[in-house]
Amino acid sequence: MVHRLTNMNQNNLSFEDTEIAFRHCSDADLKRAYWLFRVININFLVKIGPPITNFAMKLGLPIKGLIKATIFKHFCGGETIRECENTIRSLQQGNVGTILDYSIEGQDDELAFDNTRDEIVRTIKRAVKDKSIPITVFKVTGTIRFGLLEKLDEGAALTPAEQEEWQKAQDRVLSICVKAHSVGIPVMMDAEETWIQKTVDALAMNMMQRFNKEKAIVYNTYQLYRHDKLQSLKDDHASAQKNGFILGAKLVRGAYMEKERKRAEEKGYPSPIQPDKQSTDRDYDAALAYCIDHIDQIAFVAGTHNEESCRLLAELLNKKGIDHKNPNVYFSQLLGMSDNLSFNLANADYNVAKYVPYGPIKAVLPYLFRRAQENTAIAGQMSRELSLIVKEVGRRRLVN
Ligand SMILES: Cc1cc2nc3c(=O)[nH]c(=O)nc-3n(C[C@H](O)[C@H](O)[C@H](O)COP(=O)(O)OP(=O)(O)OC[C@H]3O[C@@H](n4cnc5c(N)ncnc54)[C@H](O)[C@@H]3O)c2cc1C
Repeated sequence: MVHRLTNMNQNNLSFEDTEIAFRHCSDADLKRAYWLFRVININFLVKIGPPITNFAMKLGLPIKGLIKATIFKHFCGGETIRECENTIRSLQQGNVGTILDYSIEGQDDELAFDNTRDEIVRTIKRAVKDKSIPITVFKVTGTIRFGLLEKLDEGAALTPAEQEEWQKAQDRVLSICVKAHSVGIPVMMDAEETWIQKTVDALAMNMMQRFNKEKAIVYNTYQLYRHDKLQSLKDDHASAQKNGFILGAKLVRGAYMEKERKRAEEKGYPSPIQPDKQSTDRDYDAALAYCIDHIDQIAFVAGTHNEESCRLLAELLNKKGIDHKNPNVYFSQLLGMSDNLSFNLANADYNVAKYVPYGPIKAVLPYLFRRAQENTAIAGQMSRELSLIVKEVGRRRLVN
């Protein structure tokens, strides 16, 4: 059933309103963000930051406190779910939901994978009966060894020990989805490198077939920087139709472009990535339109900081007369980024939820370095994020 439009604020959506965007930030928060982004804007510092930080951590220098009070505080909710509570409440005040993202990376042993599974289950439990946490998420490589997924993707034969490992790994994913289904909380599976993604996709489709009969519980992620993914979305939709389940889809452009291109070149196979940004944008926007056209059969989350794509999706909802609060469509951004999109969309009554990464500082460092890199100055200009903060700082007359 299509939810009909009941909303006000349909035609006056502005992403420039920094008062709404930063209403959840105190003056002190904003000043901290201002200085943080001024530092991040300096390419040189962002380049030397990761090796210096890793070296200092290895030496046991007391820099954890400094990281926790600065870059970690801006981009993460805390080290534990409990530490994220303030962030959850603060987002909720602006009608923005939370997606707790346990961002631990680079683990490789069975005990760590079991612990990650248990933590993901805790995020699902935390979401129960709390409208401010509408969706949950996990990375398959947090629960399954990368090398094993790679071998499966290649179609190589597994040793008996690896077969056992694979069975245990699938059971971990299954238990996460069983929990999500039992409490009715959707769970998304992030997309990663193409050379493990076939296996991840198959796993996700299998879980959807089991758990998405009445509503979308499991969502897979489609990276539209891949030239084959618009078609995959359509094929998976056809398969969902045929097999009687609802497709859950997170649409993103994709985060591993350079790595993908480099590997393809080194190994001598055609790059899986689109030839240029324009082609990625075209397919991303086409995927949004496709999901909107099948809103009763596809539940989707638009994971993007791209203003034009957000505007397009907002317009498509209005044009088709779909209620902004239709549970099958969400906008999503990362904590500490593009608040101008998240809070202005939420203010216009659209469904919005932000990823709130959390975890032990050391394990979250790679995530923080990526955020810093994304926000360095582009061609000598201020990053978009810094220019928005500068605008709000000026409006509040905080810094002379
Ligand atoms: C809520 C959320 C969840 C996410 N989950 C995932 C995930 O599970 N897996 C994942 O891989 N990423 C994920 N991402 C990251 C995402 O894929 C993008 O890297 C990031 O959001 C930047 O893209 P954009 O749509 O925000 O906007 P833009 O800044 O407009 O787009 C930048 C993106 O365009 C593409 N691009 C840039 N230059 C070119 C070029 N020359 N040729 C082809 N394509 C190009 C790249 O994908 C690049 O990241 C997520 C992002 C968000 C906000």
